[in-house]
Amino acid sequence: MIEFRSDTFTLPTSRMMEAIQTAALGDDVYGEDPTVKELEEKTALILGKEASILMPSGTMANLSSIMAHCVRGSKILVGDESDIYIYEAAGASVCGGIMYEKIPTMSDGTLRIQDLEETFPKDVDDPQFALPSLICIENSHNRMGGKVLPLSYLEELKAFSIKKKIPIHMDGARLFNAAISLGVAPREITKFADTVQICLSKGLSSPIGSMVAGSKEFINKVYRIRKMLGGGMRQAGIIAAPALIALDEYMDRLTVDHEHARMLVEGLASIPGVILEAENVDTNIVFFRVDASKLTTEIFIEEATKRGLNLAELGTNRIRMVTHSGINSTDIKKALKIIHSILAG
Ligand SMILES: *Cc1c(COP(=O)(O)O)cnc(C)c1O
Repeated sequence: MIEFRSDTFTLPTSRMMEAIQTAALGDDVYGEDPTVKELEEKTALILGKEASILMPSGTMANLSSIMAHCVRGSKILVGDESDIYIYEAAGASVCGGIMYEKIPTMSDGTLRIQDLEETFPKDVDDPQFALPSLICIENSHNRMGGKVLPLSYLEELKAFSIKKKIPIHMDGARLFNAAISLGVAPREITKFADTVQICLSKGLSSPIGSMVAGSKEFINKVYRIRKMLGGGMRQAGIIAAPALIALDEYMDRLTVDHEHARMLVEGLASIPGVILEAENVDTNIVFFRVDASKLTTEIFIEEATKRGLNLAELGTNRIRMVTHSGINSTDIKKALKIIHSILAG
């Protein structure tokens, strides 16, 4: 099976499996796992923050961050196409008593400053209104086709957040993809956010986990919330060990994924019946539709699966293909052939 549904299907490399077996371990709820400590220090350095903390998932990383930033009865400003708003089971409302205010997501993944501005009540002392307490952004942006937020936009957003005195949380599940695409160090992106979440378990090919980074004071709050949510883990060094390798190797790994995504888009562009959402691709995610007069999306995906190609529908009639370490250039050629043959009918 050629697996294009997600970069979460990546398996740990043999070096990672070896590292898991030989990792120094301790009870991390007692703060005694040396491998976790090493990962937390290394991640903080890479992301240019004072501290970081290992989390079991990106969802818990975002939720804990939101709860650490916001008081009950406040509202967070989130993109209507963001993972936080769509895929995280309304955790901020359920667990944090926090309201989501959704902001239209532009095609480049940004939220317009003007739209954010309008969510602030004219009179902040008027008790009728929930007050904005956090701006959440996503980088790279999954549902907008892996788009990378421009640094100039982040700079403008940072200035706005300072003016409004509310922090920025960056959902950087695929932050390293964004950094490679821009050709900058990750901290050149994260410096525009107060806090950030990165996923170890996507293109980085680690099996489990995410990291939250921010100030020491903020990470202490996340630490308490993580325990409350059930995310305190014991010999978590078995998660941290492969992550340390991922952080050493991500550059080469993800650069190849981006080349593969470009190959894929070029191939798809020449197949009759494929309607690409964007002709150019920033990172490792490609979206397209199929000409409805030929086939329904459902049948198209079914036919692909029968021929050994797994694709995902994300949103109505939007087909997503994600490149990752389990995909090589031969797989891309095979996938293009399969898609061509299905649409040729
Ligand atoms: C995958 C993902 C998450 C959530 O991570 P999980 O580990 O699956 O909980 C959050 N944000 C974005 C943008 C993601 O792609």
